[in-house]
Amino acid sequence: CGVFGIFGHPEAANLTYLGLYALQHRGQESCGIVSSDGNRLRAHKGMGLVADVFKNDAVFDNLPGASAIGHVRYSTAGGNDLKNCQPINVDYHRGAIAVAHNGNLVNAQELRNELELKGSIFSTIADTEVIIHLMARAQRETLAERVTEALNEVKGAYSLVFLTETRMVAVRDPNGFRPLALGKLDGAYVVASETCAFDLIEAQFIREIEPGEMIVIDKTGLTSLHPFAKVAPSPCIFEYIYFSRPDSTIFGREVYGVRKEFGHQLAREHAVEADVVIAIPDSGVPAAIGYAEESGIPFQLGLIRNHYVGRTFIEPQQAIRHFGVKIKLNPVREIIEGKRVVVVDDSIVRGTTARKIIKMIRNAGAKEIHMRISCPPTSFPCYYGINTPTRKELISSSHSIEEINRYITSDTLGYLSLEGLRTSAGVPEGSAGYFCDACFSGHYPVKFPRLKSDSQLG
Ligand code: 5GP
Ligand code: SF4
Ligand code: MG
Repeated sequence: CGVFGIFGHPEAANLTYLGLYALQHRGQESCGIVSSDGNRLRAHKGMGLVADVFKNDAVFDNLPGASAIGHVRYSTAGGNDLKNCQPINVDYHRGAIAVAHNGNLVNAQELRNELELKGSIFSTIADTEVIIHLMARAQRETLAERVTEALNEVKGAYSLVFLTETRMVAVRDPNGFRPLALGKLDGAYVVASETCAFDLIEAQFIREIEPGEMIVIDKTGLTSLHPFAKVAPSPCIFEYIYFSRPDSTIFGREVYGVRKEFGHQLAREHAVEADVVIAIPDSGVPAAIGYAEESGIPFQLGLIRNHYVGRTFIEPQQAIRHFGVKIKLNPVREIIEGKRVVVVDDSIVRGTTARKIIKMIRNAGAKEIHMRISCPPTSFPCYYGINTPTRKELISSSHSIEEINRYITSDTLGYLSLEGLRTSAGVPEGSAGYFCDACFSGHYPVKFPRLKSDSQLG
């Protein structure tokens, strides 16, 4: 998911719309904006892309005020309906509050069971609603204290933005799993999951919100607090591999450069004699450029992407169905025919994309196909907000690299090593790490209750 917030700007809702537009890659399922005019909160939410949900100017007339927060929701296994759109906004005895959440709480179900026994009635299946219920029950007085009291109960990943009638609060969990940045525009404070949102609205990037930091913004200015017990940070390395936009700066570095480093290292670890390096667009491009730079093999656009493929594309007729990946990608024959081709992608999840694309490249006349992946085998599910499928569906959790190579029908297959991933991302060699890399290593930095099955994950 992606979150955005702005406090103290006459165009708050409009700027939030633009911010969400820049964060669209972090979630396409639904989106929403809640604004405050100082007295009350108003919301507009809907299923689908930002440009579709906010397509009428009239919508913005109903989002008045100088502060607003917004959310783009990432599609998850269950619960893809309007009720689960964020920001969640409620009225309770303290007034109105809205919250937008990026991440996943690992003890939400336990807390929910306890809260239900005490009389709470939930209206969504989102883990985020637990936070609201905990805040409603909090004993302390100030907003910051109540947020702290609630968050002291929850475990897992959260980059959160809260909005009340008169305040905005931004918090990053103590591990700092998800990114969250602070900026300024015309004297107004802005927060966003990624700095690419600041670039679009021409806000100045001030700094990242630190792991475990809470920022409270009201008309008197900004207060920074560190209300939680300190733990070793573990930001999500998969943000660098796939999830964030390459033009964003997160965890201290611009993503594009990190992805190119992955490509350099991949070329050192899995060199091969070949004529051309191509990427599976768009996510494989920076690593492919890095591979080409390091190996000296020229990079070419061997696959062209149709950028107008929407999620709602309906295949016309039974008889001509199963276009599959051809709808989105088409090879450039001249680049591929008769060539030894290195194909770079950022990750293999189920293996279906790689298998289809290799078939396509083979049909375009490739002589040899060498698949290179800019991360290690994805063998473990994520419990911290990236929607990786269950272990059963992750091809690497039950198949060796040689078996995967056979399944996707490449001539050779090479993954970036875990050590190579860590050093390229900036972790000193041999050290235990700084990033979370649990989906590759199985070392989960925040423990979670045993679940009956992985399929409970969203
Ligand atoms: P597969 O076909 O192996 O299941 O998926 C691999 C492809 O999915 C890669 O091209 C990669 O860029 C992309 N991918 C990796 N992680 C995610 C994710 O969390 N969400 C989406 N939508 N795509 C992903
Ligand atoms: Fe990121 Fe993987 Fe850790 Fe999830 S398990 S937070 S995707 S590194
Ligand atoms: Mg991809």
